[in-house]
Amino acid sequence: MSKEIRRVRVRFAPSPTGPLHMGGVRTALYNYLFARHNGGDFIIRIEDTDSNRYVPGAEAYIFEALKWCGIHADEGVEEGGPHAPYRQSQRKEIYLEYALRLVESGNAYYAFDSSDALNALRQEKESCGETFSYNYSVREQLDTSLRLPPEEVARRIERGDQWVIRFKMPENEEVHMNDLIRGEVTVNTSTLDDKVLYKSADSLPTYHLANIVDDHLMEISHVIRGEEWLPSLPLHYLLYRAFGWSDTQPQFAHLPLLLKPTGHGKLSKRDGDKMGFPVFPLQWTSPEGEVSHGYREEGYFPEAFINMLALLGWNPGTEQEIFDMDELIGLFSLERVGKSGARFTPEKTKWFNAQYMHRRDNRELGKAFLPILREHGVECSLEKAALIAGFIKSRATFVSDFWDLSSFLFIAPTSFEEKTVVKYWKGENPSHIAALRELLAGIDDFTNTNTEAICHEWIVANGFSMGQIMNSFRLAVVGASKGFGMYEVCEVLGKEETLRRLDYALATLPQGM
Ligand code: GLU
Repeated sequence: MSKEIRRVRVRFAPSPTGPLHMGGVRTALYNYLFARHNGGDFIIRIEDTDSNRYVPGAEAYIFEALKWCGIHADEGVEEGGPHAPYRQSQRKEIYLEYALRLVESGNAYYAFDSSDALNALRQEKESCGETFSYNYSVREQLDTSLRLPPEEVARRIERGDQWVIRFKMPENEEVHMNDLIRGEVTVNTSTLDDKVLYKSADSLPTYHLANIVDDHLMEISHVIRGEEWLPSLPLHYLLYRAFGWSDTQPQFAHLPLLLKPTGHGKLSKRDGDKMGFPVFPLQWTSPEGEVSHGYREEGYFPEAFINMLALLGWNPGTEQEIFDMDELIGLFSLERVGKSGARFTPEKTKWFNAQYMHRRDNRELGKAFLPILREHGVECSLEKAALIAGFIKSRATFVSDFWDLSSFLFIAPTSFEEKTVVKYWKGENPSHIAALRELLAGIDDFTNTNTEAICHEWIVANGFSMGQIMNSFRLAVVGASKGFGMYEVCEVLGKEETLRRLDYALATLPQGM
């Protein structure tokens, strides 16, 4: 099958060893965008063959996080599909046959070394300042099928000795690889060791074998994954070759690292804890009870989170920064993914959230605001919450900012900010506000555009100072120099409450200072 006409099939293949880091979400996102852009398939495969690193709850977390992000699979553990099952622990029976094929073709061998024996070898090397490598230089002297006669190998397997199958890494061969982001990469095999492919102890393959076999069986056309997997690429190339699958092996793209806000070093969970930003999409409670913050719980919109992640490593080639998922799908290409690490900036992420906040539907924001209002003992209609949201959203980053921006609407002033009183409640202003109260009393339609038009005309016709009137008006209704547009405030309060507040201010504040 030629690569050109091959159907695009990509997979996100997380191991459920903990919550999905935002770097992992970016990998999933780029795979998803690439699949959708090319009219191909996006597959989620769970790589859980390392039972020592399995963390309960991690798999469910991964699925929930991807759903929250709007990343939906065509095939996977939950979706099913023609290559089911998509969880490697349920594909156990498949892998041994492939490991044995490699032994038969001379590309792999049995090794019987106990972990004690290997530790002793390691220590011996270390004591001379060297590192032990299980490779071409030692494999024929160790307890392997390369040294032992076939009958002895068979006898040991028969009697139940533990064994592993290791890849027989060729000695001193240049492996030429191609990475869609990095171009040509060459590695000499003498720098590589003989990786374990299969373990009799748990009848499970290791990552490398399971990954290659499944990518082959699932007809994966492109492997898009984090840079940390680049060192495994020569082994993966050689595994494809050993199986005779080089012609159909996937193309590879290794994504740049996510860097700390300082730009130095890989972004880690600890940076988030230290600097107070989440590195996980959703809050995660570890089996030990340790809680890590999540973007969802911190009040980020998934669209903002995704928009931010999309630009961490991929460059649209224009100044545009706000992209919804469909736009990202339309524009995404691996050619525009950079080679160098992408610096994460928490402030920019907040900026993205604010942008999405400004564009958000008022009713939806109102709905999110209602529980916060209830927490403060305020019962409010959805209509009113949505009206307020519409007026304050341009000043907010999170829905949790709404209360501080609008609490004065629900708590009428009983006292007045001293410095504002001194500044504005003086001269003719109190009597002008009394006149403004009468003007407002005559208006029935309290929508902000209507009151604004009438009051504005009145201020101009009387030759009053706009600043003096509006500031003392605000002081009287709000109690301080804060809040949003005064006519919008009046619209939310309604005529009755606006007049009541003005009456209270006029009765309480000293006259004509
Ligand atoms: N299971 C690997 C991981 O956890 C997948 C790496 C790959 O995509 O090949 O990241």
